[in-house]
Amino acid sequence: ETLTIKTASKTYPLYIGKGIRFQIQSFIQALEREFSSVLIITDSIVEPLYLKEIESSLTDFSNVYSYVVPAGEEAKSFSVFYDILTFALEKELDRKALVIALGGGVVGDLAGFVAATYMRGIAFIQMPTTLLAHDSSVGGKVAINHPLGKNMIGAFYQPEAVVYDIEMLSTLPEEQWRSGFAEVIKHALIWDKPFYDWLQAEIHTLADLRDEKLQFALAKGITVKAEVVAEDEKESGIRSYLNFGHTLAHAIEAGLGYGKMSHGDAVAIGMLFAIRVSEEYYGIDLELQKFRKWFRQFHYPEIPKHLDAASLLQLMKKDKKAQSGTIRMVLMKQIGEVETVKVEDELILSILEKELEEVQQ
Ligand code: NAD
Ligand code: ZN
Repeated sequence: ETLTIKTASKTYPLYIGKGIRFQIQSFIQALEREFSSVLIITDSIVEPLYLKEIESSLTDFSNVYSYVVPAGEEAKSFSVFYDILTFALEKELDRKALVIALGGGVVGDLAGFVAATYMRGIAFIQMPTTLLAHDSSVGGKVAINHPLGKNMIGAFYQPEAVVYDIEMLSTLPEEQWRSGFAEVIKHALIWDKPFYDWLQAEIHTLADLRDEKLQFALAKGITVKAEVVAEDEKESGIRSYLNFGHTLAHAIEAGLGYGKMSHGDAVAIGMLFAIRVSEEYYGIDLELQKFRKWFRQFHYPEIPKHLDAASLLQLMKKDKKAQSGTIRMVLMKQIGEVETVKVEDELILSILEKELEEVQQ
């Protein structure tokens, strides 16, 4: 299956299917460009699983280099970024080199930023290997972290193609499935009510995400992301809808210390919170209880009890989307429709307190 990702700066194909990693050479040929060499960037967990298969599928290249970074968020650092650039210069990669990002969102963000900056930009292909990367591999945001903030150094830089072999997901640990699935649910909630209804009807455990259903869910999630980005590549407007659930999620991640809870788990908590705030803000019923019940089947964690409402509120104010101390949140008017609004501290505080009381009982 081929999806087309359209953005203001570039249109590119996304191939999704089972076992398609072995066709990487033909996807490169379809770009109808000459590449002098290939640099595969991957991490230490993905390397033993898939690197050889990709290397041996690149039959038309005599110069294939691989660079393996440590697995985990720490790889999105200046020093790793610098080391890859040094490696590329030592191997004398030129402007016609092609970077392949083989891994999850960490490798995609890092390798994409290498491609965006090496000799003012060289071509790159995303080969996502996590469920979460259905989100991160589309849309062209690439970045590394600064000790003072996540994703603070980066670019908007679109790949030439995305090759998403969902067979590679089979080796993902359970918590990675759960984490990535939260973003799939998010995509349904903000944009696509029929997709949300399908998820509720068809997916009851993470094990239900298999074969056709997995591909359908990911292709739908990617389509939502692509449609939002197509309208607003540089995030001046509706791209912020993708932050649904993320205001509280980022506060929890920062409050616990990054890496203590998976991003998707934090987003899951943040989405339940955003729905609850939406119900109060608009005075509407969004069937939160039904949603919670369905959600429980995936075993997302509760809001961490030891965090307190006042400090979470302060952390939410540090969010990139906050403007001069006022919290801006993506709220839901109905399933499939959201908007970004300013929300009063009092409302946020009172709902945070309720959520925390409920888990402390
Ligand atoms: P990740 O890349 O760290 O992958 C999670 C873990 O799974 C890692 O330990 C990795 O080694 C392992 N792994 C990867 N593929 C595997 C496979 N097939 N089998 C077994 N193990 C595998 O994390 P992630 O959740 O994919 O991505 C998170 C990152 O994505 C964050 O840095 C976040 O900032 C970024 N992100 C970027 C965007 C964007 O638009 N650019 C959007 C969302 C998230
Ligand atoms: Zn996210």
